Amino acid sequence: MDARMISYPDYLQLLPKTELHCHFVSTMDAALFVELAEKHGVELPSSDPATLFDFDDLVDFLVAFRYAHDVIRDPDDFERVAYDGVRSAVADGNLRYREYYVNPQYFAERGLSYPQVIDPIIAGLERAERDFGVGFRIVVAINRRDSAESAIELVGQILAHPRPQVVGLGQDDLTPESTEDPTRFAEAYRLAGGHGLKLTAHVGETDAATPANVRDAIEVLGCDRLDHGYRIVDDPAVVALALERGIGFAVTPVSTTICSGWTLDPAHRIRRMIDAGLPVAVSTDDAMFFRTDLGREYREGLFALGIDAETAKQISLNGIDAAFCDEEQKRMLRADFAAHFLALDALLEP
Ligand SMILES: [Zn+2]
Repeated sequence: MDARMISYPDYLQLLPKTELHCHFVSTMDAALFVELAEKHGVELPSSDPATLFDFDDLVDFLVAFRYAHDVIRDPDDFERVAYDGVRSAVADGNLRYREYYVNPQYFAERGLSYPQVIDPIIAGLERAERDFGVGFRIVVAINRRDSAESAIELVGQILAHPRPQVVGLGQDDLTPESTEDPTRFAEAYRLAGGHGLKLTAHVGETDAATPANVRDAIEVLGCDRLDHGYRIVDDPAVVALALERGIGFAVTPVSTTICSGWTLDPAHRIRRMIDAGLPVAVSTDDAMFFRTDLGREYREGLFALGIDAETAKQISLNGIDAAFCDEEQKRMLRADFAAHFLALDALLEP
């Protein structure tokens, strides 16, 4: 092998990337999680990062996700998590742009107001943007465990405290009945959409989910893009609808192996979405909890799905197309990615 050449897994890891689907607390490093828990006297099931994240299923994970919000309390905590998360994603996977889901309702349970959560996150991400050149936007996420009224109040908070970095509304977690039921929050979506916020939602992810959940998110909620969406491949009519509307999908390969027990291979639903022509972008979802990172999602995830280099580059570009930033930022990202692609293509071993 020529010493100047790189292997295909290395190529995948080095591709420039966006990330559209990551939850703010999950960008925390496990060591920082343990450190902040100690700082605030939060007792974790284990202080050993190696066993801290052993989950049996999605519900088990969602309990851990909830207590992760308990360790981030002071402005300095938020800023550190924000800044450090960018630094590691640049190192692990050549991150160039990211959108974060932030759940103010979890923090509200601990007495923090919406600005007390959003403003230090923005401060940390702006500092990281200056140091690492990684742009960002924030999508505020409705916690489906809470009521439809609480979701409407949350949108009211976004509108009462406008921040140019906060550009969208999403929904995650599951309802108290452990369903997705996206239309439960239709009123909050109408309000947000009416005020120019972009819309997304977690749908079609869980074993109980159906293609109808995906259809509802598109037709009833008016989503601009979707998170997960895997069940779409079970109904060709919903695939056709998504293609017609140009809906992008922020999928997270490694999380499907944990939450649904799926094997990453060329028969996986994500590969079938790609083969159907849906614009799929790849993200980590909950990197700390699933012991993954953006580089690994490409290096191991796309590799196991049998994705070739041309498709991998298209997946990386799909993340720019589906992003909620302005066209000028997208233009700069595309130029930056094109330069990286040229350099990497020249190094890829035949
Ligand atoms: Zn998610």
